[in-house]
Amino acid sequence: MYHHYATQLAAICIEVKPFPVFGPKLAVKNLALAESLNLAHLFDTDHTLLEALFSPTGELQIKSVAQKYGGHQFGQWNPHLGDGRGLLLGEVKNNQQQLIDLHLKGAGPTPYSRHADGRAVLRSTIREYLASEALHHLGIPSSRALALITSNEPIVREQREKGAMMIRTCPSHIRFGHFEYFYHANMTKELDALFEFCLEHHFTEASGHVNPHLALLTEIARSTAVLVAKWQAYGFNHGVMNTDNMSIHGITFDFGPYAFLDDFIPQYICNKSDHAGRYAFNQQPSIALWNLNALAHAFSNKLTMGEIKEALRLFEPTFIAAYRNEMLNRFGFEITSGELQSHNDSSLDALNALSTRFVKLLSDEFADYHQSFRLLSNSISNIQDGDYQSISQHFHEKASFERWAKDLSQHLRTHVIDSELMQQKMLTKNPKYVLRNHLMQQAIAKANNDDFSMVDALITVTKSPFDEHPELSHLARVPSEKDKGIAISCSS
Ligand code: AMP
Ligand code: MG
Repeated sequence: MYHHYATQLAAICIEVKPFPVFGPKLAVKNLALAESLNLAHLFDTDHTLLEALFSPTGELQIKSVAQKYGGHQFGQWNPHLGDGRGLLLGEVKNNQQQLIDLHLKGAGPTPYSRHADGRAVLRSTIREYLASEALHHLGIPSSRALALITSNEPIVREQREKGAMMIRTCPSHIRFGHFEYFYHANMTKELDALFEFCLEHHFTEASGHVNPHLALLTEIARSTAVLVAKWQAYGFNHGVMNTDNMSIHGITFDFGPYAFLDDFIPQYICNKSDHAGRYAFNQQPSIALWNLNALAHAFSNKLTMGEIKEALRLFEPTFIAAYRNEMLNRFGFEITSGELQSHNDSSLDALNALSTRFVKLLSDEFADYHQSFRLLSNSISNIQDGDYQSISQHFHEKASFERWAKDLSQHLRTHVIDSELMQQKMLTKNPKYVLRNHLMQQAIAKANNDDFSMVDALITVTKSPFDEHPELSHLARVPSEKDKGIAISCSS
């Protein structure tokens, strides 16, 4: 274990030990992730991990710290944030020799708890565990989940609930709000130390640049644009894009009332408290840019206004190119991110136009976003053969879908595209299984009665969402009307 953050940035964090819970039990473990982090020994017995966390000599609590940060919440600056219920346990190296943070969520009170209990409910830890794994296996950058620990300790939210803890991993827990806090507090020395820390450990390429701070801001803008493009392409609504929930690594971070869309409603709001729709699905790209702008203020002693604009100006073209790229991938074309801007192929432009029309048709009739893509993937050969009904029969606007399918068929013939190969590729890009909110609610209800079977089943399908898993096909069904589009409360 390394403790680079705790030692090099001791001035901006506080040592706090995990506060044991009553009746802890290792309920879910991610062995594959543990192996990739050389931490499989933590799962030797059901007690090994708990001892490592809670015994005074445990390897995971030698130098655990709470980090200080701030954040713009729903557009308002809040300097009073920090790890109020989470602790950075330390860093380890993964198989690729990259540093990875281990963080315990629900660890108990810290000086940043602001009179709250420092705990997390079982419901929200299950949701975070599942979503981070689901996104990762869809190819969307995310923090990961190493283990979930249940407890017998009741927690009071809107009602009494079970408490739990989870260990999450990611390159670092440094948020936009870290930089914002030390900038707005005029803590220049601390802000500089944070910049140096990031350049030394996490952005080594930028550190070798003639202007490392410009390279750093540019890289954060780039990775954030690519991340949000993936959210938009895969119908993921984060729900609380406050700047304290934005990772500098361009990964999905801090899960709250998120949702994968059911019906394709671009203005969908998954967060019950977001009355104005600030974080609605279709607002995510512009909010990401707003957040980058808030972050960029912290660079203003290091960069000229021209340089800051230069970095932020990259966001929009990068987002547009990345989104187009993702959608073309969903239509069976493999384009690596390196090729993003260089593609100037008229057949891809035509396919891109077809993809845009398809998405528009889905939004016109609020069709199920994910099932429509899976259905299309399974229908390509039929469409090639002139059978347009195989797809149109699933939609209300049959004539529109048939017109569109006919144009796709024409496209396949004109560009001599092997429909079987296209179908195969599409089936590896358009998931059969999607982590929908109503499924999680059922899994959580069972887990609250100590039955983790549905959590386990959801883990199985989210680990390989493109595979058929015939025995679990009921988890791929479209929700009933009452189960669609569930908005979630922020309490966690
Ligand atoms: P979140 O909603 O989890 O992103 O948290 C927002 C802020 O509130 C962070 O600074 C958290 O550390 C803090 N926080 C949230 N829930 C709790 C809790 N139960 N106890 C202490 N701090 C909390
Ligand atoms: Mg947060």
